[in-house]
Amino acid sequence: MNPLSRRSLDAVWHPCTQMARAEATPPLAIARGEGPWLHDVNGRRYFDANSSWWVNLFGHSDAGITGAIKRQLDTLPHVMLAGCTHEPAVLLAEKLRALTGGALGHVFFASDGASAVEIALKQSFHSWRNRGFEAKREFVCLKNGYHGETIGALAVTDVQIFRDAYDPLLMRAHIVESPDDRLGNEAQALAAMRTLLEQRHAQIAAVIVEPLVQGAAGMVMHSPSYLKALRELTREFDVHLICDEIAVGCGRTGTFFAFEQAEAGWPDFVTLSKGISGGTMPLSLVLTTDEIYQCFWSEDVTRGFLHSHSYTGNALACAAAVAVLDKFERDDVLAANRGQSALLAQAFAPLAEDPRVAHLRQRGMILAFDVKNPGERFSERFHLAAREREVLIRPIGATVYLMPPYLIDAATAAFLSHAVMKTLNDVLA
Ligand SMILES: *Cc1c(COP(=O)(O)O)cnc(C)c1O
Repeated sequence: MNPLSRRSLDAVWHPCTQMARAEATPPLAIARGEGPWLHDVNGRRYFDANSSWWVNLFGHSDAGITGAIKRQLDTLPHVMLAGCTHEPAVLLAEKLRALTGGALGHVFFASDGASAVEIALKQSFHSWRNRGFEAKREFVCLKNGYHGETIGALAVTDVQIFRDAYDPLLMRAHIVESPDDRLGNEAQALAAMRTLLEQRHAQIAAVIVEPLVQGAAGMVMHSPSYLKALRELTREFDVHLICDEIAVGCGRTGTFFAFEQAEAGWPDFVTLSKGISGGTMPLSLVLTTDEIYQCFWSEDVTRGFLHSHSYTGNALACAAAVAVLDKFERDDVLAANRGQSALLAQAFAPLAEDPRVAHLRQRGMILAFDVKNPGERFSERFHLAAREREVLIRPIGATVYLMPPYLIDAATAAFLSHAVMKTLNDVLA
């Protein structure tokens, strides 16, 4: 084991890791990143095919983003956002409002995705309470949905492995059948939602969903028509809709916000994180409507939203996010991504005929497939074998997925598909 990995195992408690197992598969010691490549301390390189947990958009050490952070660092790294404000936070909020055509005009900042989810849940509940609907205190989430790991976010998360140990601590949420293109169950999923809302709408504050792709569930995809119908249902029953765009926002699925594809107006809340700072600084935020914002407007302090985090609206993180949004405008990233996702589709098309593989699927810059007879510890074996082929890829169970930075050309698409096919051969041999 290289010395840095050894020191890490002795001193760092790694996330999402059974540390006893990490002894056998120690963490890669990464020295630097450039474009889609991560370089380890021994001079080996790896293509970051999952964008460092879905956060990276334009590659590592993108000069536009790091330049913006450096300029901000020399000016104002941070100031508290209660009683003070600063240009990057204001500009970022204005740009995000513009991206929603003014529909979601108010931005509340935090640092991690899970915190943004907590904020959206609290704002939903508190806005109903301020309007006199004190009974609306229940939340609805979808089967296999993932919204983060703090206690509130975990309560609306239905991924057993993350949740089970803490289940006794969690508030009770309604978990409803989720649409899954592989099952063709959209109508049943909507019927189940309607039944629940008919029975409990007076007690329900909000429904929270991951639009178009349930990421942590294993890149489970559904069609925009589900979201459109869900928006109509939540309006009909006067229940908020929270779209958790932490993974699918920022152009990942083809539009800036995944929910745009529903062509059903806007949700009441959108959470963003991960890609918003291009994989550089921790930043998350909640966008909401004027209508909800107005519910907190009062001479009475306690009717306000008093939530805060020390680093709320951190100037470095906001400057990074402004640079990301500038890049979307300047380089027409959404149009470029359409070309890139077509290249990925082409390069991976042969897998559709591969008898070892099922359900090859794609939404924009997310491509996934399921392996039919994965065998023991498939994910770990695939991950290690792919490293030998210079690709960093971490399957979720038997689902192999790519969620690469937006830096795909024909050559990288071909490289990735060859590496993935050869890895499949290695692992399933
Ligand atoms: C990653 C993720 C979160 C949690 O974000 P963290 O920054 O890891 O707390 C929440 N929701 C979705 C959909 C995510 O993919």
